[in-house]
Amino acid sequence: GNGLALLELSEFSVSYGAVEAVHAVDLRVGEGEIVTVIGPNGAGKSTLLNASMGLLPSRGVLTLAGERIDRPSVEAMVARGVALVPEKRELFGEMSVEDNLLLGGFARWRRGLRDQASRMEEVFAIFPRLKERRAQMAATLSGGERQMLAIGRALMSRPRLLMLDEPSLGLAPLIVREVLHVVASLRTHGVSVLLVEQNARAALQVADRAYVLEMGAVALSGEAEALLHDRRIIDTYLGLG
Ligand code: ATP
Repeated sequence: GNGLALLELSEFSVSYGAVEAVHAVDLRVGEGEIVTVIGPNGAGKSTLLNASMGLLPSRGVLTLAGERIDRPSVEAMVARGVALVPEKRELFGEMSVEDNLLLGGFARWRRGLRDQASRMEEVFAIFPRLKERRAQMAATLSGGERQMLAIGRALMSRPRLLMLDEPSLGLAPLIVREVLHVVASLRTHGVSVLLVEQNARAALQVADRAYVLEMGAVALSGEAEALLHDRRIIDTYLGLG
């Protein structure tokens, strides 16, 4: 692969009780890379992401920038600059855009309010729409704006690796493009991305590389551009659209 591996999973497995949902996955996200995991419903994509964030127990090896993390925990991952935007976006609907962002930066409050304010301006530079709506209550935002806010909130902790669980969920196609376009642009802000998506076409269009997860295992992987033209991927995941 290219450059330093930021995240590397090796023989990574996750079980729910006796049922193994993720089987011996090998995956890497390089510095500055946008990597997507696609696959059908129930393939184990969310499970893989949540276990990589330390939310679920896993087996195998997880390394971050070359450091092996034994028993990954959310605390360990956050401390090393990893942030997750979960499938359920969990915004505070009765709070303003600005307050939702400030809550996202809480792990860095020690650095002071001035640091938070400057970080918020950086997030507003990435999502100008949020700046226009900074005083608006989160519950009154459109679906696309809520997703931008969820991503913006995760960015408040200045992650170097952002994990996204199906950001396209429930969004109109045009809005999906808009959100994923911004996700791809994060690399210019020094953020690498691991993107889980059921919307294979949209994900492959913005990613550098992709892994196809089927029944918990990697069925295929490669350059996103090549997978977009792979007959098997077209037939199974891209349809006619
Ligand atoms: P989707 O896009 O539908 O969320 P997915 O690819 O993200 O699909 P997962 O949600 O990771 O798939 O689910 C993988 C498998 O693990 C499925 O068979 C699912 O039923 C099972 N599973 C998920 N969460 C749990 C849980 N908390 N307890 C038991 N089994 C679970």
